[in-house]
Amino acid sequence: MTRRGLLRSLLAGGIWSALKGHLSAAQPVSMKDVEALQKNWKALLAEGVKVPLANEQLKLSKEEWRKRLEPNEFNVLREEGTERPGTSPLNNEKRPGIYTCVGCGLPLFTSEMKYESGTGWPSFFATIPGAFETSTDFKLILPRTEYHCARCGGHHGHVFNDGPPPTGKRWCNNGVALKFIPKSGKG
Ligand SMILES: [Zn+2]
Repeated sequence: MTRRGLLRSLLAGGIWSALKGHLSAAQPVSMKDVEALQKNWKALLAEGVKVPLANEQLKLSKEEWRKRLEPNEFNVLREEGTERPGTSPLNNEKRPGIYTCVGCGLPLFTSEMKYESGTGWPSFFATIPGAFETSTDFKLILPRTEYHCARCGGHHGHVFNDGPPPTGKRWCNNGVALKFIPKSGKG
């Protein structure tokens, strides 16, 4: 593309569509593509791995959770803590696979829903259907949409409206609340 051509497409289609060609081929263009990713999420599940369903509720007391989780996991999942940005090894995780809840194993996201937001937290533009429930939190004065695991109620992060098209969503997730299961089965 000539410089003038590039400039023209930036002006016409926005920076995002001009850059699209340089992003991963799996990047969805339409909501139909996103729906296909959501519908076919099991294609990223490693063979032989059993995962629970959201309606198989896991309810434990605070003390039972404290015993079951690492202190940093407990702080995020059960006390709505936030990990320091840039600390999660999952920021750089790019292999195909599934992200599950570290508290209860519920599948939440696939690798195809992940993108680099530059925030220092693992970020996703969509979720596996039914993975989360949301609530409004006023901790930072301005209301934010908090989301938590539909199976165990564990807090995972906040969802914002500055994600990439077509969903425009940024599910900003604490890496410590996630467990990654690579499609290859080798962790
Ligand atoms: Zn959970």
